[in-house]
Amino acid sequence: MKDIATPTRTKEILEKYGFSFKKSLGQNFLIDPNILRRITETAELTKETGAIEIGPGIGALTEHLARTAGKVVAFEIDQRLLPVLSDTLSPYDNVKIIHEDILKADVAQITEQEFSDFEQLMVVANLPYYITTPIIMKLLEDKVPFKGMVVMLQKEVADRISAKPGTKDYGSLSIAIQYYMEATTAFIVPKTVFMPQPNVDSAIIKLLRRERPAVEVTNEEFFFTVTRASFAQRRKTILNNLTNQLPAGKEKKEQILEALQQAEIEPSRRGESLSLEEFARLANALYPVFN
Ligand code: SAM
Repeated sequence: MKDIATPTRTKEILEKYGFSFKKSLGQNFLIDPNILRRITETAELTKETGAIEIGPGIGALTEHLARTAGKVVAFEIDQRLLPVLSDTLSPYDNVKIIHEDILKADVAQITEQEFSDFEQLMVVANLPYYITTPIIMKLLEDKVPFKGMVVMLQKEVADRISAKPGTKDYGSLSIAIQYYMEATTAFIVPKTVFMPQPNVDSAIIKLLRRERPAVEVTNEEFFFTVTRASFAQRRKTILNNLTNQLPAGKEKKEQILEALQQAEIEPSRRGESLSLEEFARLANALYPVFN
């Protein structure tokens, strides 16, 4: 069977349906079957795995998922793609398309309904670039019980997600994701494998859920508040950022200094030098001061 994701077949499909790309929906379709094979290999799918896809487009990745996973549920916001998908994916009986905005969908409930027979779930997607971070955070925060995610996003965002302490890319996004997941950049994807070509380079990132969060914190929300505050102005010291960003921080400067001491963190350090463990110690020492 001919792959959807060849330049010729993709053009044929687009012409048949008079489809025009919407930039506002991040529509850059994959036209290289080799990249799709590498994505599904990275996801290590089996027929016992359920796959959740966001933004199937004309079905390029969806058909590769249908071939390797037990079942695919794909969320697509663009109504114009529904008739296209029911045509291109007609050879596969294990695919369900849901016409919903992923950011509004009750993914946890849909997952429970659709994948009750599956022990393992993976999210695999070529994400719409205008909302990559909100999608990843929503799936994490909604407690969707997936084992991991293999997703394509802008290389620059992939670098920030998998960054280690002490690097320029390390920040609150690295911590928000690495708290729940182990993050690695699997491979870089050139612009030439998309139609139309995006302006930026892309990367495939693999996130695997940790058995328990990377560090123990008294209160998760407060931990994330402290990490965001610490990176508010990257050139400032941790002490400066905390006093400027936390509520009534200036009045609580002495207590903040004591908490830093208790956590064994020099007040003159910058947020980007702190490991997850150090942030956890700091947030736990600061918690009684602000709550
Ligand atoms: N999977 C296809 C591929 O690889 O060729 C298309 C990927 S394209 C980068 C992103 C897809 O996400 C588009 O089909 C777009 O319509 C869809 N999309 C954009 N925003 C969405 C949203 N909020 N919810 C669901 N799908 C969305």
